[in-house]
Order: sequence, then structure tokens, then C-alpha cells
Amino acid sequence: MAGILFIISAPSGSGKSTLVNEVRRLVSGLDFSVSYTTRKPRGSEEDGREYHFTTREQFERMIDAGEFLEWAEVFGNYYGTAMAALDLAHDHGTDLLLDIDVQGALQVMEELPEAVSIFILPPSPEVLERRLRNRSQAEGVANESIIEARLAEARTELRMIDDYRYALVNDALDQAASEMRAIVLTSRGDATPAEGDLAARCVTGARSVRLEAALASFGISAAEI
Ligand code: ADP
Ligand code: 5GP
Repeated sequence: MAGILFIISAPSGSGKSTLVNEVRRLVSGLDFSVSYTTRKPRGSEEDGREYHFTTREQFERMIDAGEFLEWAEVFGNYYGTAMAALDLAHDHGTDLLLDIDVQGALQVMEELPEAVSIFILPPSPEVLERRLRNRSQAEGVANESIIEARLAEARTELRMIDDYRYALVNDALDQAASEMRAIVLTSRGDATPAEGDLAARCVTGARSVRLEAALASFGISAAEI
């Protein structure tokens, strides 16, 4: 049987990679799709682990050859999910996590409507800014214009949350990881009633208090989206 496809999107710096790593520690049978990108490796990133790092020419050749399930240009670089990632997960008999931006997510939702989509929000713009700064300092690349661009982009992306089945606020990592774990188990039909309740509270349309508070902190009201 084909595994479940989980689409995870979040504004850059929300803690999506941290959260995905934590959930993969808590739940077995979850493969991570390693995307192709034309951006340069950051910090300790390794080719083939976080991304397949490639050139624009090679990426464009892959687009022309129809090798991508989806692709998009994000912050001036190409990013894409190769069809091969799906085949690999299928062969392994595992579920697959796609960490992709909102443009790519919409393409996959249209192509594969049974995919389970999850949007991760930072709790507030102040926290997002702090996380972006901490990360760039840790990587030795403090660039104000990049941080500003990512904060502005976050507001645009947050307006897309209603296209996603679930929305999680990554405030305390443990709590967000438990919620994502509950969503995975519920999607598999393996959840206890308590885990099922937890997942149900994360349904985007349920508009949890935390979700409303995070949206309001970005100046986004329900009427706007
Ligand atoms: P993304 O993958 O969304 O771009 P990262 O996972 O790289 O984000 O996280 C950005 C920064 O925020 C990192 O320095 C990470 O350690 C930190 N971070 C992630 N989640 C949390 C959390 N729940 N609480 C505090 N800091 C966090
Ligand atoms: P970063 O450069 O911070 O790793 O990622 C920047 C953005 O690109 C994030 O929003 C991330 O989700 C997105 N991204 C990573 N891989 C892919 C992909 O394969 N396809 C698409 N559409 N977006 C991706």
C-alpha cells in the first residue's frame, strides 16, 4: 500500500526543520524527502542529507525532463521535490514528509489531494525575528536584508493557512512535536482517543486559541484570510 504523504510548510525560521527532526525521533516509518536546491549549503549542511545541492543548469534540465513532482523559486533559488523521492518511500513502505514552501504545497495538494498538509506558525513576529537572528549568528551569516525579507514573506505565507488541513504553533518544541506526532498517528489510524483529540484541536478550521493569538500577533484577522 502507498504510504501517507505529509506536506509541511512554514515561514523560514519558524523551526520547521527542528520540529521535523524531533517528530522523526518520536515516530518510526517517516521518511524525509531530500529536495533539490540551487542555494548554497548553510552551516553544517551536507549534500544529500538536508538537500541535494545543484546548479541552475542542472535544475532546469530536471524541470525540462519532467523529473519534479513540484518545484518553485524561493528567495531567488530553485527548490524542488523529485518524483524519485515518492518512489523511494513507496519501495521502503514508509510515509513521506515533504518540507516545501506554499507554492510547491499548492501544486502537490492539487496533484495528490489525499496528502495531509500541515502549516507551522511561529508564535509571533518577535519570536520569528529572534530565531532568524540566532540562526544566522550561529551560522556566521548575519544579513539584515535577508532577515527583513523573510519576515515580510512570513506575513504573506501565513495568509495561506486555510489551504492546509492542520496548523501548529511552534512555541514550546515539546508541545508542537506532540501535536505533530498526534497528527501523524491519527492519519495512520493508530491514535489513542487522547491523541485523536489533540490532532482534532490542530485542525486549521478549529481555530485554536493559540492559532488565533499567533495570527493576531502578525496583524492577521480571520476576516482577511
Ligand atoms: P526552519 O527550518 O523553519 O527555517 P529552524 O528549524 O532552522 O527553522 O529553526 C530556526 C531557529 O529557531 C533555530 O535556531 C532553532 O534552534 C530555533 N528553534 C526552533 N524551534 C524552536 C522552539 N520551539 N523554541 C525555541 N527555538 C526554536
Ligand atoms: P531554506 O533555504 O531555509 O532551507 O528553505 C527555504 C524555503 O524553501 C522553505 O520554505 C522550504 O520549505 C522551501 N523548500 C525546501 N525544499 C523545497 C522543495 O523541494 N520545494 C519547494 N517548493 N520548496 C522547498
